[in-house]
Amino acid sequence: MCDCLSDNLNKIRFRLIESLPKRADLSTLKVTYQNKVLRLDGRKNDVLIGVDIEFYKNKRDGVLEKRKVKNFTSIEMSHCPFCGREYEK
Ligand SMILES: [Zn+2]
Repeated sequence: MCDCLSDNLNKIRFRLIESLPKRADLSTLKVTYQNKVLRLDGRKNDVLIGVDIEFYKNKRDGVLEKRKVKNFTSIEMSHCPFCGREYEK
């Protein structure tokens, strides 16, 4: 498996450090992917693509309900989004 995800995260971290205000305490800086998971199935790709789902329901009279239904799901990537190599299964 390639190291593109961690390599790019390190690049982001370095660029971010350059742009942070001088008062930023770098010992508290945390830069991670939003949708990182702990894999229990032995696979190595631990960053999933997050998908937000939002919609309104119709009431019985056809008017939209005021409350939006929100949900979330994740999609596993089969290939590296940076170099295109296939992840091990
Ligand atoms: Zn890669």
